[in-house]
Amino acid sequence: MPEIRTRFAPSPTGYLHVGGARTALFNYLYARAKKGKFILRIEDTDQVRSTEASYHQVLDSLRWLGYEWDEGPEVGGAHGPYRQSERLHLYKEHADRLINEKKAYPCFCSTEELDRKKKQREAMGLPYVYDGKCRSLSETEVSEKKAQGLEHTIRFRSSAKEILVDDMVQGSVRFDTALIGDFIIVKSDGFASYNYAVVIDDHLMDITHVIRGVGHLSNTPRQIMVYDAFGWKPPQWAHVSEIVGSDHKKLSKRHGATPITAFRDLGYTARTFNNYMALLGWSSPEGHEYMALEELKSQFDVARCSKSPSMFDVFDLEKAADVDLAQVTIAELEKYLFPKSKLNWLSNQHIRNTSETQYIEEILPFVHSVGVVPEAETNVQNERLVSILLSLRVYLDTLGQIKEYLPDFYAPFAPRAEDFRDSEYFQSENFVSLAEAFLRQIGQMTQGEKLTHDAVKTGIQAVGKEINIKGKPLFMGLRLATTGRLTGLELPVYLELLGRERVVERVTKMVALKKEA
Ligand code: GLU
Repeated sequence: MPEIRTRFAPSPTGYLHVGGARTALFNYLYARAKKGKFILRIEDTDQVRSTEASYHQVLDSLRWLGYEWDEGPEVGGAHGPYRQSERLHLYKEHADRLINEKKAYPCFCSTEELDRKKKQREAMGLPYVYDGKCRSLSETEVSEKKAQGLEHTIRFRSSAKEILVDDMVQGSVRFDTALIGDFIIVKSDGFASYNYAVVIDDHLMDITHVIRGVGHLSNTPRQIMVYDAFGWKPPQWAHVSEIVGSDHKKLSKRHGATPITAFRDLGYTARTFNNYMALLGWSSPEGHEYMALEELKSQFDVARCSKSPSMFDVFDLEKAADVDLAQVTIAELEKYLFPKSKLNWLSNQHIRNTSETQYIEEILPFVHSVGVVPEAETNVQNERLVSILLSLRVYLDTLGQIKEYLPDFYAPFAPRAEDFRDSEYFQSENFVSLAEAFLRQIGQMTQGEKLTHDAVKTGIQAVGKEINIKGKPLFMGLRLATTGRLTGLELPVYLELLGRERVVERVTKMVALKKEA
């Protein structure tokens, strides 16, 4: 068995979004699962649309996702160069060979002429196929036209036949090449066209498996014709299902897709995002959903991918119908996340299961950006911060959500009366006596003594006895009196983290609010 070699071949014409990232992931995982090689190739032959900024953006995204490529830009390898713009001589050499063998020919038809013919066909409701005008030009005619300085493309000479694409995901798909005609392999600017360059590169780079989006399936017969013309063996094809958004429409740069880095900025870890993307079209043999990258790397098989579209059910696209999600700020983007998505569920699992050290390290940048924790306390040595972060982790679906919790522990107490004013616990005639009894309990503690988890528990019991209430009215009443909230962490943990001074301040303020009411 030859070594399995897969590749991801992005065109650097924009940011990397989930469609491209999932293709990269599947190629990466398949190579790892089969102990093969994963190659990165940059398809930058579109001179107008390719940019250096996009190239760096794509590489940064791939690095964040963690797909270390075995060969490619900035890494090198035996099959380089890995940017198509540096491989023009190879496309030229091979095109010359096809011309010499009469398998390709120069075409002098102008864009205007071709456009006109195309429109005519379309007006008649017919599909456009190149009419073969330059197919039979003699060598003299060609030389004359070149001498006149006429621009030309190079066309592949195709013949009408049926081509069978044997695809690992889509099964056997038949194409009739009569509807394809003689297609352009080298553009008039000398740059190779995609369907031609991809074949030269995949062949010279010894690619064994081409895994890409199903949108490219219709390009495959052209590519097979080029393989055949050179007498080369095509790779194995695997065209994976398309990704649709929550509105069932195809996800694209214009619809519902955002740069991959937006997920990093929202506070999803790459581990989570890879886990989620792996399930877009693939399922584990045991039906597992929560999976570590290591497991994916050993279990992934493209042959298990489904033919049906997979749904990227992360953003509420009906709510975002008029919004370009790729253009909005992270704070704005967050508003369109479904709170109960599978991505959030997986993310919560990954946050809970990370080692404490890694979790703290990963969340600190988000703590920084909340801006409520004093700079000098924002570090792994700060015990109070670390305890708060560790207690909160079970509640977090993203690391970014820490911003909803931290102000409670660090900012001045600002009760939101509208949240509890009408609750039975605030309305209860016991509220003040409950609160004051708890204050007395805390007051009995010696000065400087820490309000521990256990001390809080003992205090709650004593208050219950004194006022003669128990159960929910006792716990919820005290929660409200001590924190100004009806929800939050387990109360003893919450109060220990707040510390005695803050608790006293809160109870006093809540009592005052009740008395004013
Ligand atoms: N550059 C192409 C794209 O970004 C690659 C397609 C392929 O994988 O063959 O869609």
